[in-house]
Formats: sequence, C-alpha cells, structure tokens
Amino acid sequence: MATIGPMWIDSHCHLDAPEFDVDRAEVVARSRANGVSAIINLPGHIDHFAQAKASRNAFGLITGFGIHPMWVAGPGGESKREDIATLRKWVEREKPELIGEIGLDFFIPNFNQSEQEWFYVEQLKIARDFDLPVSLHVRRSQDVLLKHLRKIKVRGGFAHAFNGSAQQAAEFVKLGFCLGFGGTATFPQAQQIRRLLRDVPIESIVVETDAPDIPPSFLGTMGSRARNSPEHLPRIGALLAEVRGMDVEAFARATTTNVNRVLFRG
Ligand SMILES: [Zn+2]
Repeated sequence: MATIGPMWIDSHCHLDAPEFDVDRAEVVARSRANGVSAIINLPGHIDHFAQAKASRNAFGLITGFGIHPMWVAGPGGESKREDIATLRKWVEREKPELIGEIGLDFFIPNFNQSEQEWFYVEQLKIARDFDLPVSLHVRRSQDVLLKHLRKIKVRGGFAHAFNGSAQQAAEFVKLGFCLGFGGTATFPQAQQIRRLLRDVPIESIVVETDAPDIPPSFLGTMGSRARNSPEHLPRIGALLAEVRGMDVEAFARATTTNVNRVLFRG
C-alpha cells in the first residue's frame, strides 16, 4: 500500500466539457487515487447543467452553476437574457455550493462589454440572494469586476486563474476572495503570476486546474492544447509549493483549508 500523501482540492474545473465524455468516471477515480479529495465542477452554459447534475450525483462533485462570459462575449453570444431566469430556477432547486463561473473577459476580440456586465451583475444578485460564494473569470477586467462587487455584496469566493497587480489582488482579498493559481504558474516565464504566488498571504491562495484548459509545464509548452485534468493537481500543487518556497504538505493543507472556509465558512 502506498502511503497517503497530501490531500488537495481542485477549486476550479469543467468536467462537463466534451473532452471528458469518454472517461469522466475514470478521471474522477484517478484524481481521488492521486490525493484530490474534492473537485469543484463549473458548467458554464445552461445546456450543460443537467450533465453536471448527473456528475454531481454520481461522483459527489462540488458544483456551481453559472453562465460563463465566453458564452455572452461577442455580439452573437449564445446565451440569452432569459437564461438568467433558468439559472435562478436551477439554483433554487438544486442548491449548488456556489455560483460560477461568472465574470468578465475583455481580451477576446469584439467583446460586448455592456452585455457581459449585464449577465455578471444579474448573477451576482443570484449569489447574494442565495448567500452563495462565486467563482470569477478575470481577464483584463479586474477593476470593473471589483466595481460591481463593491455594489452587490456577495460573501466572497474565488478569483480563478488570477492575474493582475498586487494592489488588485489585495482588493479581491478584502472582499472575501481567494486567488486561484494553477498551470500558468508552473512556467518559469510567467514571472508576474509567480511573484503574486510568492507575495500574497497564504490564507488567500487556492489551487486549481481549470481542466480541460491551462495545461501545466509537464504536459507541454505554454498555451498547448494538451488536455488538463484534476488528476494532475497534486503534481501542479507540488510545483506551486516550490515557487512559494513551502513544504508541499503544508501548502496542500493551507489551500484545502482556504477552499473550505470560502465554501462552508469552515
Ligand atoms: Zn474556467
């Protein structure tokens, strides 16, 4: 019998993605065997909620429902305003642990900022009304995200794949957020993110894969299309602990504690 190593929580992934259709159960089993004690699954479109519900029941995944900004990004975005009412019904009925992935992406070409903000604000209101934390997508949008968070008081959450300045990081922390680090920080050239990982308080750090996206350095070059998976989280976490200059076990314990505090006030 192998000894049980550090236990990790994947604070952000998308097991609803078609990339996992062939081996979803095996991926979850391998993740558990590798020391991933919990997985937060975040379907980003109302058409994926049923599939995510099935995974939640089958595998005990922690689940968030939300409309991802990529689905409302461009002028022809595929989510409709009435999807917000559908989301609210799902939240009422299924009682997810969080709302997400929601947020703003001002990087993609021809993005529709006002429409993205509308969806973001409406989903913050749902999180507030049901007293749930949120998982945030942050891309070139830190200050606008913060502006709305100051007006609509949610109880905090996760700023996933965080990038931004140290000051912006501190503002999210003040509002009850933990910052998510994953595959990007495993690349030595990601200097700014690695600096943040070293400098922000340990109480504010969680780890994530964003699987099937953001593959770490050991799966390929930066930005490769290799499939990421929660089963890789322990190895990613060990690399992040090294950047942080922390003992792997202590880093795993701290980041697990942080996820539990955000989700369950534990
Ligand atoms: Zn994501």
